[in-house]
Amino acid sequence: MSLSEKIDAKIAQREDWVLRRQKGITNNLKLFVLACMDERLPVEEILGLEPGDAHVFRNAGGLVTDDVIRSAALTLNFFESKEIIVINHTECGMMTAKGHEVVDGLAEKLNVDLQNVPLDPSLPELVLSDPKAVEKWFKTFDNVDEITIAQVEYLRNHPLIPKDTVINGYVYEVETGQLRKPHRILGRKVNTREELLSESE
Ligand SMILES: [Zn+2]
Repeated sequence: MSLSEKIDAKIAQREDWVLRRQKGITNNLKLFVLACMDERLPVEEILGLEPGDAHVFRNAGGLVTDDVIRSAALTLNFFESKEIIVINHTECGMMTAKGHEVVDGLAEKLNVDLQNVPLDPSLPELVLSDPKAVEKWFKTFDNVDEITIAQVEYLRNHPLIPKDTVINGYVYEVETGQLRKPHRILGRKVNTREELLSESE
């Protein structure tokens, strides 16, 4: 290949990259990932993702919110994505406080009354009318395995998510740097008789 041919090929490749949406090119793996924003979670590294491989959505907790539904609905229905992977993790900040503690903390820090909190600039009708709703909206949780399972279930049953979407959830163990399935804690299984017995039942 001559140098100019190599240059032309590079330009064509770049054009495909830039004009992906216009040209209807999907992300490489047809994959939507939901994960926590936590800096200890190297999402791309954990999943072995290269640039272009997936649509990745990160928020506090890696939890299903209205914008997760919005983004997933778009990529699954219009950009040919076929799979969702949810990643939650141990030692998540969303397990360190209860909803009411977050709300109390905010009220104190900002010196505001948390009534009618607006959520979306284009939807002024979307407001959280009282502090109880704000508590729920922050979505703290108690058990990372349970929250992973619950989110997968919720997504599976959501009307805007196509029924044939492959949906799985994993827990990332910050302490070992490994992914595992919910409730499949290998360390416990190999270290305690109780887990060994319950497993063989
Ligand atoms: Zn987290």
